[in-house]
Amino acid sequence: MLTTAVLGFARIGPERELKFALEAFWRGETSGVDLERVGAGLRHRQLALAADAGVDVLPSNDFSFYDHVLDTAVLVGAIAPRFGRLELPPVEQYFAMARGVGQARPLEMTKYLDTNYHYLVPELESGTGFAAHPAKALSDFVEAREWGFHTRPVLLGPVSFLLLAKSPGSDVRPLALLDRLLPVYEEVLGQLSAAGADAIQIDEPSLVLDRDDEEIAAVERSWQRMAASVPGVELTLATYFGGLGKWLDRVLALPAREFHLDAVRAPDQIGAAVRSLASDARLSLGVIDGRNVWAADLDALVRFVEPVIDDLGPDRVRLAPSCSLLHVPYAAAREDRLDADLRSWLAFGQEKLLELRTLNDALAAAPSERRELLEPSRGALAGRRASSSVHDAGVAERLATLADADYERRSPYSDRVVRQAERLGLPELPTTTIGSFPQTAEIRAARRALAARMLSAEEYERFLEREIRDVIERQERIGLDVLVHGEPERNDMVQYFAEQLEGYAASRHGWVQSYGSRCVKPPILFGDISRPAAMTVRWWRFAQSCTSRPVKAMLTGPVTMLQWSFVRDDQPREQTCRQLALAVRDEALDLEQAGAAVIQIDEAALREGLPLRREDQAVYLRWAIDAFRLATAALADETQVHSHMCYSHFNAILGDIARMDADVISIEASRSDMELLDAFRDFDYPSQIGPGVYDIHSPRVPSVDELEALLEQAERRIPRDRLWVNPDCGLKTRRWEEVLPALEHLVTAARHRRAADSRPPGGR
Ligand code: GLN
Ligand code: ZN
Repeated sequence: MLTTAVLGFARIGPERELKFALEAFWRGETSGVDLERVGAGLRHRQLALAADAGVDVLPSNDFSFYDHVLDTAVLVGAIAPRFGRLELPPVEQYFAMARGVGQARPLEMTKYLDTNYHYLVPELESGTGFAAHPAKALSDFVEAREWGFHTRPVLLGPVSFLLLAKSPGSDVRPLALLDRLLPVYEEVLGQLSAAGADAIQIDEPSLVLDRDDEEIAAVERSWQRMAASVPGVELTLATYFGGLGKWLDRVLALPAREFHLDAVRAPDQIGAAVRSLASDARLSLGVIDGRNVWAADLDALVRFVEPVIDDLGPDRVRLAPSCSLLHVPYAAAREDRLDADLRSWLAFGQEKLLELRTLNDALAAAPSERRELLEPSRGALAGRRASSSVHDAGVAERLATLADADYERRSPYSDRVVRQAERLGLPELPTTTIGSFPQTAEIRAARRALAARMLSAEEYERFLEREIRDVIERQERIGLDVLVHGEPERNDMVQYFAEQLEGYAASRHGWVQSYGSRCVKPPILFGDISRPAAMTVRWWRFAQSCTSRPVKAMLTGPVTMLQWSFVRDDQPREQTCRQLALAVRDEALDLEQAGAAVIQIDEAALREGLPLRREDQAVYLRWAIDAFRLATAALADETQVHSHMCYSHFNAILGDIARMDADVISIEASRSDMELLDAFRDFDYPSQIGPGVYDIHSPRVPSVDELEALLEQAERRIPRDRLWVNPDCGLKTRRWEEVLPALEHLVTAARHRRAADSRPPGGR
């Protein structure tokens, strides 16, 4: 019989219940028992929903209170010594690793493969003593059984775990620790089996990246041992976010009983997989897109899956979303304020479960019945293809007439820097921030009041003006050099713009977890993009009227808009990105016209858009960087263009970042101890750079000494006349109590460094 499965569910809750429960717990308002109760409620809800939708295989242990990679570190006892030393109770230790405590820095956080989900990077060292701590995996399985759901527990596989980890300050590569880790996996599998699990899903997403022979050999070794340790258990090897490429056959030869392949991102591998699959193995086809929100073309899927069933027989085929449903929101059905047509084109998590069911039924049905089952899907799809809200001839024409010169600034950086220095007159090591200041309860309340019409538009504007004036005054008092208006009017750096652009729609409940309790609500880019009117000029102008120091204007760049939206799947991403770039260009020119001397165009997501496989990266980088250039090239030489990127592993793309031709970039660095600056040893980055020295992801307030030390470290790599001093991201999630002292320390540290005139030893 043809069956269906789900690899994992969203965790945050349809009303972001987990977020609020976590934050209340962290504030000390609720107990661990309260938090656990919320978690159980969310787990139960998802299982019940999927069971109702008729899904055959349900996951457990996919839920996490913060991050499943962190859970895996705990599962295998990989606790970095600085946390182990604190001898905290388990729950406190868990959140200490995620968020830091006292002087103990949290684990580094980075994007999970090419998603906008962040995981905590496990820290391993040669002495890491792994030990099995399967309590959570076991209790989630047992709990589900008590509710009447026989689940398939999910584990992150040992090789992916190690490849996602790092070993700072140690020459041993994490993967070298595999043989010490495997007994722990054997033990966990054994215990799950003893608890009654007869199938276990082991995720090895790292297999869709470029892998070498040694890494594949490690996967083989791990699977031989895991499979041998639980012969009675059906192991599923799950891969997603891409294809297995040249390793497909070797992966399919592993002793798993089921292989889950991503048939959305890599449909081409399915044919080959059907041919290579062992006769006792099953293929789990990830056919429903777990990374986007569009309703599936079920007709096309029937045509795609049917030959697979013909070849393998229905027992050896399973249908599933391409990956965990973690990356899509809960239910499109709740989006009652969306245009009804648009809504009918969407499928969020809940609808995807139904699509799975419909697809399964259609494949099992006689042709006449099939028609009826697929009819609604057909109608919606045809409507979308023909819709006039999707296609705008004016946009198409503007794109068609772009010339090379539209991508080039007038003069090279070496000329621009002189004019900008004259215009701005900044000190050495200028200080600035990334844009946002704390989004206080008051700001959120005002926004809600406006939405509920409790506050008039005028009252809201006055409120924002007061906020901006206040933020400007505070920055002047702190002594920052380049100020910002604080972004109080922005609910989110992408949504704010999306709401003002044609071709975009905003959902009401479309939250997706970003990290821990943080969620994002990616807007839905469904049609051609244009900018009917200026979006930010009014607020910039007001902010500048409050001060004589330069106020940096803030825009979100085209790649980040693209990357943090759910974008249309009916045209290449490149084309959508160029449309966005033109809208940003229009806005940047309006800001310049209004008098802005410094304009920051955030490309926070540039790197995460990088395709997972090296062979696809150059093409992406070309059009992505071109889009940034298109957005900025029309600005005058005297206008200083900043860009901000929030990540650290970009050694490999530093040349491309240079090609953005921004005058100043700010990047994340403090969480990895300025590790990223190593890249500047080998590459002579041409323009100015602000390596973030204050880690805004943690509530910790860094000391002056600490910041000075980081700056000193930065000066070893980057000439002081090109260095800026700034936090590593926006401050909107932090509280003023943290931000004020942290920024005071930052300004003091910069002043100390300015006074210390000799370069540290080893400087260039
Ligand atoms: N300007 C934005 C802010 O400060 C940038 C945020 C980001 O990079 N994620 O909030
Ligand atoms: Zn950032």
